[in-house]
Amino acid sequence: MSEENSNDPSGFDRLRRAAEHVPGAEAALARLAMPLEMRALRLALDRDDGTRTYLPAWRCRYDDALGPTKGGLRFHQGLDAATVERLAFEMTVKCAVMDLPYGGAKGGVRVDPKALSAAERRRLAAAYARAFADTIGPERDVPAPDVGTDAGVMGVIADAYAGATGRHAPGVVTGKPLAAGGIAGREEATGRGAFCLVQQLSQALGLSSVCRVAVQGFGNAGMHMAELLAGTGRRMVAVSDSSATLVCEDGLDLGPVAAAKREGQSLADLDGLGGGRVRDRDAILSLDCDLLVPAALGGAITGANAGGVGARVILELANGPVTGEADTILAERGITVVPDVLANAGGVTVSHFESLQNRQGEAWPEERVRERLSEAMGRCGAAVAELARDCGLTLREAAYVRALERLAAAVAARGC
Ligand code: GLU
Repeated sequence: MSEENSNDPSGFDRLRRAAEHVPGAEAALARLAMPLEMRALRLALDRDDGTRTYLPAWRCRYDDALGPTKGGLRFHQGLDAATVERLAFEMTVKCAVMDLPYGGAKGGVRVDPKALSAAERRRLAAAYARAFADTIGPERDVPAPDVGTDAGVMGVIADAYAGATGRHAPGVVTGKPLAAGGIAGREEATGRGAFCLVQQLSQALGLSSVCRVAVQGFGNAGMHMAELLAGTGRRMVAVSDSSATLVCEDGLDLGPVAAAKREGQSLADLDGLGGGRVRDRDAILSLDCDLLVPAALGGAITGANAGGVGARVILELANGPVTGEADTILAERGITVVPDVLANAGGVTVSHFESLQNRQGEAWPEERVRERLSEAMGRCGAAVAELARDCGLTLREAAYVRALERLAAAVAARGC
């Protein structure tokens, strides 16, 4: 699966089109045509076998008009500078759509995370924190988990940053382990946020309480969302990972499937489990269902396969799973796309709560996190849906208009 598609409109093109609906956005547009800061560094990683590997690493702070820059840190073998910059731009839009007091950023290392031992992963995270210690910081740029990284990596970064700067600063990252100043519910936040959106926009999306759902990518976000949807009576007709699709027309029994995945098994080896039958990996895209949730990497639904999508609604739980070409085809076919900058914003929203918690020296109860997440997703989701309806826009176009309105207002107010 490719992360890049050269025919794709850039996020910036989308913002430029949104400007037709936002008077006075010229200054913001001019500013957002390029990133604020893009750093590329070489990291040295000492392997367990005594050899040393050199790896390219990046951090892009795209824009800080709305606040310190915020966004994930990715370990992935396919990562490059262009992808980091594109994802940093999308974080800028995401934070603006969600009314968060942050700009956007993204970073990462080109490395296969599955090829690292636990000790190598820790050394790599610490090397990244030391190398980028001048870039990141609680009031400057705050990384979080993303593809290939998790709470453990964030804990190491917080520690290495404290070592490099001589200051205890847990707010330098979010998505930390609970014992290191993390927040309850951060791990499920992306999946739960999307679930809240489906609950609260179900009428606008035409999704009933017994709709048929397929989740492509059964990792952290996909699994949490699938479990929450199944828990409210939706029928999970299929889940997939990089090895296979597991299908059950009558609805999978998710419990045993999720348990096996958490133990590290591949779906291809789970034929019969939870009532599911193994089919090929991409079969999930053309299955007849109400809601398809691409929750793996970018570029899953392209111009080549969008014509065969069997769902009525697509919710982008991954970043960038629907290419621009596919977007056009899906719109022509009357398929609604809930865009990533809204659909997967539960993660960064709870990251914000973690920052608040760290600044106040508090530990929020999980119930409070869930309530505030549900409120934020409902409020911002309704605002995007309303804008789409009133202006005759797709949800993605409306999300970009909402983001640009906020960014333009901040640029005008600060004169920056
Ligand atoms: N990596 C997540 C995203 O793409 C979370 C970012 C954050 O919490 O800062 O939205």
